[in-house]
Amino acid sequence: MPSRAAEFRAEEMALISALEHERLTAPRTGELLAACEADPSLGADEAAAANLREARRDYDRATRIPTDLVAEMARTTSQAVEAWKEARRTSDFPAFRPWLERIVELSVRRARCLGAPPGGELYDALLDDYEPGVTAARIDGTFGPLREALAPLIAEIAGSPLRPGEPVRRVRVPIDRQVEFNRRVAERIGFDFSSGRLDVSTHPFTEGLAPGDTRITTRYAEDRFTEAVGSTIHETGHALYEQGLPKGALHGQPLAQAAGLGMHESQSRLWENHVGRSRAFWEWALPEATGLFGAAIDGIGVDDVHAAVNRVQPSLIRVEADEATYSLHVMLRFDLERAMVRGDLAVADVPAAWNDRIRADLGLEVPDDRHGCLQDIHWSSAAIGYFPTYTLGTLYAAQIWEAIVDALPDVEGRMARGDFAPVLHWLRENVHAHGRRYRAADLCARITGRPLGHDALFRHLNAKLRPLYRL
Ligand code: ZN
Repeated sequence: MPSRAAEFRAEEMALISALEHERLTAPRTGELLAACEADPSLGADEAAAANLREARRDYDRATRIPTDLVAEMARTTSQAVEAWKEARRTSDFPAFRPWLERIVELSVRRARCLGAPPGGELYDALLDDYEPGVTAARIDGTFGPLREALAPLIAEIAGSPLRPGEPVRRVRVPIDRQVEFNRRVAERIGFDFSSGRLDVSTHPFTEGLAPGDTRITTRYAEDRFTEAVGSTIHETGHALYEQGLPKGALHGQPLAQAAGLGMHESQSRLWENHVGRSRAFWEWALPEATGLFGAAIDGIGVDDVHAAVNRVQPSLIRVEADEATYSLHVMLRFDLERAMVRGDLAVADVPAAWNDRIRADLGLEVPDDRHGCLQDIHWSSAAIGYFPTYTLGTLYAAQIWEAIVDALPDVEGRMARGDFAPVLHWLRENVHAHGRRYRAADLCARITGRPLGHDALFRHLNAKLRPLYRL
């Protein structure tokens, strides 16, 4: 959108957000909820009761926030995103600093309105927007052991002289051929093109606009065709969730909405990491690619591509990170934003804290803030509490994948033949159909038989990376 209109857009956003908030929090909404709650037939129907419970939750949370704060948040973030874009372009953190200070201040005010859960902290109130029911302490309890498990594996890989997938890095594929290939991949794994679109953007995303209209984007580079496939599969995973939610009859109601961003991310990560990075997937996909790419991928075998998509290489940029180091990027952001909300970290000290942490965790020097604390859009749009859902999703995905392999012992063979329908069917039945009926953590325990832990992800990484690096 044109940057010159940013200021006017901020006023429009403030107005629309305020109107939406006033409608949601109107006394009439409260009366209707109370009437439903008094209706015994609704309580007897488990799905209807869950729908009502979640609608009540949304209403109660919204009514704690004054409309002027909603409008001010919309106005500020609309402008802050523009300020961030320019600050990132010129790597000028001081220019962005006052915006981030204002956003932390507004977020803390918002968290105070919502209130911390008993025994919890203010940050938990923000987390609740993205991953209902989870707390920072619980995330700590999951991230801590994951971090301890990952560190030695990453160190062992760093010490390996092997550079898997090198031949694939020399491949160049014209963009128009890649566009066709990515479309075929999305369609084959289940994306319904009569209910959505696949386009191009700088940062790939998914938007479940309306029933029958789910938009996804990906991005292409001639010398990185496997990365485009990874992005496309990731966003397709989000889109399959959107397309699988029971939106028809229940559109706009909690039962037709995702169980939280962690569960949403689990759907993208499951397809990206457990399908798209598997050998079986490429046994089907490589011959398809060869038909389209021709001589461009002469001499490249399934093992080469499998190695390339699983290569581990610590990087400065989160969205380019490999499967093993990705979570370290997330943990850094979780710790820093939590410290900002607590008042333990001043915004002015964010760049130094960031750079120290990258050095300690990944052994890299951050050359400028563009490659450091200015790289993500999230904070400029006040999405504080969002980052942890990326790793929660990755953990859910690994655990759900083990359940799928248990339920579908021939899943690898099916995938190698280009048959992904059993995976999608399983997800439709066990995850998508439920919407917000269960909290993500409860849904995970229900479908995998145990609470969320880091062990499934660790098993997955070990099983794949140890042979690849001959550890
Ligand atoms: Zn995602």
